[in-house]
Amino acid sequence: MTDFQRRSAEINDLLCILNVLNWDARTQMPAGGSGARAQQMATISALAQEKLLDPAYEQAAREVSGDDTENRAAQQALDAISALKRIPAELTRELAILKSEAQDVWARARAASDFGMFAPQLTRMVELNRQLAGALGYEDHPYDALLNLYEPGVRVATLLPLFERLRAHHVPLLQAIQAQPAPRSDFLHAHYPAAGQKRFSLALAQEFGYDTQRGRLDESAHPFEISFTRQDVRITTRFQEDFLPGALFGTLHETGHALYEQGVNPELSRTVLTSDLTGLYAVAGASYGTHESQSRLWENRIGRSKAFWNLHYPQLQVAFPEQLADVDTAAFHRAVNTVQASLIRVEADELTYDLHIMLRVELERALIGGELEVKDLPAAWNARIKADLGLDVPDDAHGVLQDIHWSAGMFGSFPTYTIGNVMASQFYQAAGQQLPELESGLLRGEYTPLREWLTENIYQFGRTYTPHELLKRVTGRGLDPQPYLDYLSGKYGELYGLNTQPNTQKEQTP
Ligand code: ZN
Repeated sequence: MTDFQRRSAEINDLLCILNVLNWDARTQMPAGGSGARAQQMATISALAQEKLLDPAYEQAAREVSGDDTENRAAQQALDAISALKRIPAELTRELAILKSEAQDVWARARAASDFGMFAPQLTRMVELNRQLAGALGYEDHPYDALLNLYEPGVRVATLLPLFERLRAHHVPLLQAIQAQPAPRSDFLHAHYPAAGQKRFSLALAQEFGYDTQRGRLDESAHPFEISFTRQDVRITTRFQEDFLPGALFGTLHETGHALYEQGVNPELSRTVLTSDLTGLYAVAGASYGTHESQSRLWENRIGRSKAFWNLHYPQLQVAFPEQLADVDTAAFHRAVNTVQASLIRVEADELTYDLHIMLRVELERALIGGELEVKDLPAAWNARIKADLGLDVPDDAHGVLQDIHWSAGMFGSFPTYTIGNVMASQFYQAAGQQLPELESGLLRGEYTPLREWLTENIYQFGRTYTPHELLKRVTGRGLDPQPYLDYLSGKYGELYGLNTQPNTQKEQTP
């Protein structure tokens, strides 16, 4: 092992230990443990940062001259060091304090549905994030600097035209769907005991290829996937006994994330290429959007497809015979693909979800750019919900206060959800072109060829390539929404009996 590799391995070990502490805190820890745990995590995080910013590590990274993979690892380490060094220590300290305070205030403001309570904290948070953007540096828009922490290489200038195309497609499609009768879905709210849900969801995860010798499924308030190495990749879900799709699709979603992490080349364990060094977080995906592309691909492209339910619905009926006695496969498939404009992002369907994301991105970009003031945020929010979804927001709790992200200082992370949707369809299309038997195999429940193709083309590389490089290598193009738009119009056109025109507007996106 070289000096660079040894030091990188120690940093990755610390980041993986942080993940263990984090997983425990969210799945097992009694509430009383939270104070001490926060201190323990802060200590480990500080140790990791100290090792990262040790001049000897920078020196070791500069001296690397190995193969392409090793050189990329060294360059990523140098980039992270340079980014972290640009952030003044005082700003880091202020942000850390504000984040914990602001989340508290936000939770109370949301409970009281009173944006005014949270506005001073949010104003300060926007200010500090503007300073952070300034420290990190940008060319066109300060939001680019923050966005880059989650999605390297993507800029506001790339994102806005992409979003315009999505909105121009989604809003009329939503209106056409709303003119149709809503499918029956009462049976999704029958009583489904958690134990049965867990058995069924985990069996599906295993059919997708989730290896439970190297993973496990637990429960948590907010579902997530987290990895400690390639050999231990865990997922969680939340069981609602009066709503079947929550845990079912939640598990398939986290399974997609887990397949990515389990599929990374084991040789990249304990390296820079399985560490987000700037974010001080052990994660092996190329970016948050790339990661999300895999959760969306397995959850939506596969898990909500007709082929999938033709095959697995009879099994679901065996697991829940009374609840599903008078429901046939087509009715179930329609119900789990219901489109319905709603106020809450985390409950949104596949189509309206992007509209929720685009609203947040536009508003947070305007806040960071100084084009929108915090006091005007609720009105701007409500106007956008009315324009896109046709809904009136009754109160702040169902509007501007619903997400934790801004109180946690996560400006720039929202776009990765929609970028993930777009990438998922690009990757899926490429898989279909390269695997002529893909669709017919999926009818028989053969998921291995798809997972192996994804491993070969995406997963194995961890963070070796930027998301843009990966997309280019795999699909020959940059971010391109066309496959995603075709998929949505095709799917909902069929489900709702619409006369959809194929979306023919082609546009080169660099
Ligand atoms: Zn996800």
